[in-house]
Amino acid sequence: MRIKFINATIVTVRVLLSTMPKFDEFEIYENGMLVVEDNIITYAGKQGDYSIEKHGPFIEDGKAVSKIIKYLEDSDFDKIIDCQGNILMPGLINTHCHAAMSFLRGRAEGSDFNTWWYEQVRPIEQTMTDADYYKGVKIAAQEMMQNGITTFFDVYMNYEQTIKAVSELGMRVGIGFGVISDTDTTTMEKLEKELNFLKSQNNVYPLIYTHSVYSCDEHQFGTLIQFAKKHNLVFCTHASETLKEVGECHNKYGVTPIGLLEKYGVFDVPCVLAHLVHCDKDDAEIMGRHDVTCSHNPSSNLKLACGIAPITTYKKYGINIALGTDGAASNNSLNLFKEMYLAGMLQAGVLNDASAFTAQELIKMATINGARAYKINNLGALQEGYLADIIMLDSSLPNMQPNNNVVSNIVYSAGPQNVIMTMIDGKIVYNPKNL
Ligand SMILES: [Zn+2]
Repeated sequence: MRIKFINATIVTVRVLLSTMPKFDEFEIYENGMLVVEDNIITYAGKQGDYSIEKHGPFIEDGKAVSKIIKYLEDSDFDKIIDCQGNILMPGLINTHCHAAMSFLRGRAEGSDFNTWWYEQVRPIEQTMTDADYYKGVKIAAQEMMQNGITTFFDVYMNYEQTIKAVSELGMRVGIGFGVISDTDTTTMEKLEKELNFLKSQNNVYPLIYTHSVYSCDEHQFGTLIQFAKKHNLVFCTHASETLKEVGECHNKYGVTPIGLLEKYGVFDVPCVLAHLVHCDKDDAEIMGRHDVTCSHNPSSNLKLACGIAPITTYKKYGINIALGTDGAASNNSLNLFKEMYLAGMLQAGVLNDASAFTAQELIKMATINGARAYKINNLGALQEGYLADIIMLDSSLPNMQPNNNVVSNIVYSAGPQNVIMTMIDGKIVYNPKNL
């Protein structure tokens, strides 16, 4: 299948390589053109340039390769979509989600984290059936596709139902497997079996997951880290989400949750830590020395009265920052436009610094930084050799006019109402305008 998009405003989020100095990190093409062949982007650039042979190097699987893309006639395409000036950008990447929690949306309101988790959410979770998980994920995945999210990383229970629902819709998903509470047991053999199953699934990315330092013990962490090391997997957990968690960790172990994770050896593998609301400079310094991503979930942290994560500090320490929605039980939507907006607004407001984060940085948090977090080297940008996960935003709506600054418009003005196409892996999966 060969699809050509013409007359597009393309926000590439293109990756800067030192070998390719002519490419800016955030190239934007007015009147641009983008070509998708099967599930790969083979051209993203100016419309006129495509009429000549285009020479590499291009990025494939994270490596620069040389090749020539030959000019294709219109008749060579299965479909040509006239974007009429609308925006094409990479699909958004949700780095922390519990999709099936959509089943619990609105069921536990007005509670702080600990009441929400122990008294409201956990008892309902004990009663959830396979059908409930499936239904919850299906709703979540549909919502995410409508909101321009093309990949999400899910850490929850019953991942078989998650994969079933997501694969029916054609989404890309990262699945966390491991242990959730201290009553769970696992072995290397069990993990091997799970990994083999996950690897056999289409567009599923396995990652190692344990819930947190307060719900799992050193032995559980040890087993999972050993397995993650053996198979080169990214490790994901919740960390420093509430003051209570940090205080209890201090009392019990004499260190912060980040100090404890370091002691456990978690940072020997690439790591995605969700929330990180209550970390000090020492924590940031530890994380900055390792391959750690902060999955920043501002809506969830605000709604459960946890606080505001100091992501400006994390930036100073060179920590990769990506965005997550958390589950719909604590958000109550799965909308990364909202998270981008809040991430920028909160830092500017709390620090009295309007330049804490640029709109470009915030778009990267919602796209390429998520792909980097989970070590997917050909996702999160619109460039040759990358996976064709693309969204189109309607920039003719009043909330996007006038188009003085497309990047600011995406972060501070756009919302799900602007998403008029979602393509995942080269297939259009959401198409309300029948493009
Ligand atoms: Zn979470």
